[in-house]
Amino acid sequence: MRAQPKASHFIDGEYVEDTAGTPFDSIYPATGEVIARLHAATPAIVEKAVASAKRAQKEWAAMAPSARGRILRKAADIIRERNRALSELETLDTGKPIQETIVADPSSGADSLEFFGGVAAAGLNGDYIPLGESFAYTKRMALGVCVGIGAWNYPQQICCWKAAPALACGNAMVFKPSEMTPLGALKIAEIFIEAGVPKGVFNVAQGDRTTGPLLVNHKDVAKVSLTGSVPTGRKVYEAAASGLRHVTMELGGKSPLIVFDDASLEDAIGGAMLGNFYSTGQICSNGTRVFVQKGIKEKFLARLKERTKVIKLGDPMDEATQLGPMVSGAQREKVLGYMETAKKEGARLIVGGGIPNDVPAEGFYIQPTVFADVTDDMTIAREEIFGPVMSVLDFDTEEEVIARANATEFGLAGGVFTADITRGHRVADQIEAGTVWINAYNLTPVEMPFGGVKSSGFGRENSLAALDHYSELKTVYVSMGPVDAPY
Ligand code: NAD
Repeated sequence: MRAQPKASHFIDGEYVEDTAGTPFDSIYPATGEVIARLHAATPAIVEKAVASAKRAQKEWAAMAPSARGRILRKAADIIRERNRALSELETLDTGKPIQETIVADPSSGADSLEFFGGVAAAGLNGDYIPLGESFAYTKRMALGVCVGIGAWNYPQQICCWKAAPALACGNAMVFKPSEMTPLGALKIAEIFIEAGVPKGVFNVAQGDRTTGPLLVNHKDVAKVSLTGSVPTGRKVYEAAASGLRHVTMELGGKSPLIVFDDASLEDAIGGAMLGNFYSTGQICSNGTRVFVQKGIKEKFLARLKERTKVIKLGDPMDEATQLGPMVSGAQREKVLGYMETAKKEGARLIVGGGIPNDVPAEGFYIQPTVFADVTDDMTIAREEIFGPVMSVLDFDTEEEVIARANATEFGLAGGVFTADITRGHRVADQIEAGTVWINAYNLTPVEMPFGGVKSSGFGRENSLAALDHYSELKTVYVSMGPVDAPY
């Protein structure tokens, strides 16, 4: 098995196995080949991971923040040096083309470690609060042991986006990757040790929906950060609430991308394609409801079809490949089911719509697909598909499209393409979402906050805003005078 790790878990600075845990396979989505066999964490492994994090956290939090930062920046450097190998592993884990992973996965994890390594020294200061004669000050305190739970679409990125701010603030972490993509986080754990992160500060425990609750409900866990679907978010939030634990919820979306008739057609189509087909459509913030103003609708669709038809599907390890398979056969079945429902409900198929025939049959490939004449009540316009399926809806007026864009339980992201700068800002202001792009889509540099509103979650990852979600303030009042007691 070509990607077999030394053992399933990484705890207290080393690989650990417990074969009593339920075995599960890691499958390369392009060929269906089993590339590793692992075991889900048993309760004993969960105990070991949390205990090692709890012990190590105190020493880590006691270090000068600048020293922690230096170590995190070193980890970023190692990731960059090994970008190729880590990207290949990410491709094996997810099936995403190397063309993508080489620019968007380990490197985005490194960006995050570099950023939070940098802000560790400068960004963790408290405030001095003058109170006349007396004064107060605040300290930013680590929360303790944080649990990170990942989805399968960006395994290494998600791991780093959670670990970097958590560790910068002096927390320790137990990270549970998605059972679909267990491999990348183990390499990140190795790199942390190499960079100088003390043993036990970052641990990986494998498992699925039965393992997650063991971590979320653990009495020594202070915070849970989940990247996953809305139904999972509800369960994890509920469990965390009973223990009054902090939470960050990065959940699903059904984001609107609005194209006005004055927009650059090529840019708008490029944005819509990136926002629906990148990572084979498996991106939470995708703009899967593309609202196109009626005047340019047919022109938009004709050019979109032309550009979609020539997308190169195939071997993800080939640098020319633009679209890889879906992560699993089950996910592909789900997406094919949505395509059938769309056809039945009267959406007009523009391009794609099934399984391609010029790729290996064992891979979980699916065609990039566009449906037009989609209406707000159709299933594909309401539910998150998590596959390369673009729904094009049309609209007449700005007022109308904003109301329709917001008529969803989700609120992760949105986009607007227009040449009118005033309209761009006006629309961005009114879209109910955590992130809105004007004349771009799906760019998430670490400098800017990322997260959702409404059912898409709360809390923010990236940027200085993430510090608030991995630390809490202690206020110290300092009296400079006598105690004025009335007794
Ligand atoms: P999922 O919800 O099925 O699983 C996410 C993770 O939660 C997995 O590691 C899983 O094992 C774990 N899990 C499941 N049930 C659990 C429970 N009861 N307690 C604890 N852990 C549990 O999601 P997925 O299919 O892996 O990923 C796709 C979803 O993730 C999509 O909805 C997508 O939009 C979302 N996502 C969101 C973001 C974001 O930043 N907002 C990013 C990527 C993906």
